[in-house]
Amino acid sequence: MTMIYRINKNNFDNFLTLSEVGMKKEHTHIIGAGPGGLVAAINLAQAGYPVTVYEMYYEVGKRFNHDFQGIENWSTEEDAQEFLKHIGISTNFRFAPFGKGDFFNPASQKYNFKMSRPLFYLIERGSNEWSLDQGLRRQAEEAGVHFEWGTKITKVPENGRVIISTGPKGGDAIAKGIIFSTTHKNYYAAFLGDDIAPHGYAYLLVHEGNATFATCLFEKFPKSLHYFEKALEVMKKQVNIDIQDSKYFGGYVNFSLNQPLTKHNRIYYVGENAGFQDALFGFGMRYAMHSGYLAAKSIIEHLSYPDLCKEHIIPKMEVSLANRWLFTRLEDLGYTIMLDRLAEKDDIIPTLRTQYNPSWYKKIVFPVANRAFKTRLEDKQCMHENCSCVWCKHGEHDYAEVEC
Ligand SMILES: Cc1cc2nc3c(=O)[nH]c(=O)nc-3n(C[C@H](O)[C@H](O)[C@H](O)COP(=O)(O)OP(=O)(O)OC[C@H]3O[C@@H](n4cnc5c(N)ncnc54)[C@H](O)[C@@H]3O)c2cc1C
Repeated sequence: MTMIYRINKNNFDNFLTLSEVGMKKEHTHIIGAGPGGLVAAINLAQAGYPVTVYEMYYEVGKRFNHDFQGIENWSTEEDAQEFLKHIGISTNFRFAPFGKGDFFNPASQKYNFKMSRPLFYLIERGSNEWSLDQGLRRQAEEAGVHFEWGTKITKVPENGRVIISTGPKGGDAIAKGIIFSTTHKNYYAAFLGDDIAPHGYAYLLVHEGNATFATCLFEKFPKSLHYFEKALEVMKKQVNIDIQDSKYFGGYVNFSLNQPLTKHNRIYYVGENAGFQDALFGFGMRYAMHSGYLAAKSIIEHLSYPDLCKEHIIPKMEVSLANRWLFTRLEDLGYTIMLDRLAEKDDIIPTLRTQYNPSWYKKIVFPVANRAFKTRLEDKQCMHENCSCVWCKHGEHDYAEVEC
């Protein structure tokens, strides 16, 4: 059998058969080093694909502010820790299980819920050493991924596969908050009330001397500072916490359905760029990582990425949109009734899971929610037809020929 040398950084002593050469693994360009892009990069590189990740900043996590976020642990039977293993990710970053915490209704009545496992895993976002973003970066580097830092891509690369994972293109919900130091013990609390977080919630997360407090609004964005200040007042009345060295932060999330997920069998949209987000509460990290994993799987196993998304992601997105529509109808009295009901449960995890999974009821609500929902998707960079830039998803044209 004819043999040729496999060129390897360290040695030249392996061989490739010609049949292997015939099955050459195509180069994949990944645009955006967020959780979606990095999970795709790690899986592809581990399967032997040459991968380049382009990140517009010189470091990962620059969109974030060292704030704490939660990887939710209620929407699947599989624990989130297992889910990460399943998608090829190890937890080489801050990853702290959080079980019981305090929940407050709009009248500041406190609730504690029973649960059989952590409600979420706290992680840190940003460019600090133990952030999720840095952990994924380390795993990608170990797998052999090549990074091009400080490279803002405005045009889809002309050759190879391309995964577009550039994050949200507009704001359907925003967060306004502070990060700070504190001597308070590890803790979390959530606060409901349209006076402090219109159709959203405020949250406090404390871990090892650092804390994040923010209000998350699904409307009335221009008054975010006003709502944040009111939320902070409410929180301080309920939680005896010292706040030192506070710094403001903010951010936005975007969810939208019915966007194209691939183009020309070589371009794949993942994470929030594809509109993948939890429309109910904005827990988008699992969606981002899962879609990155599915994009890699579709390339490695020659499967249809849209079909994989239809099986694993879209049904949950539809339920989350139905949930958002229902939640918006609750208002203050409804939030209290919801918390009262949860307080009666021996274990809230299965109850929450039922709410997050498809059911006949959510199937009926979904078309109504879908009709009522107008994404605030607003891509300031470009939404042109017939354009070759990474933002455009419309038109069936040859990317190589059209300038933005
Ligand atoms: C304040 C806040 C709190 C949140 N809390 C939670 C939470 O508790 N739980 C949860 O699950 N989710 C939470 N989310 C949502 C979650 O952070 C996102 O859903 C997730 O980060 C999306 O991942 P992604 O990979 O799609 O995009 P991103 O994380 O946005 O990554 C996109 C990357 O692409 C880069 N990029 C963009 N354009 C280009 C370009 N043209 N060229 C090169 N690089 C580019 C960006 O710099 C960025 O690094 C929160 C979001 C915010 C803003």
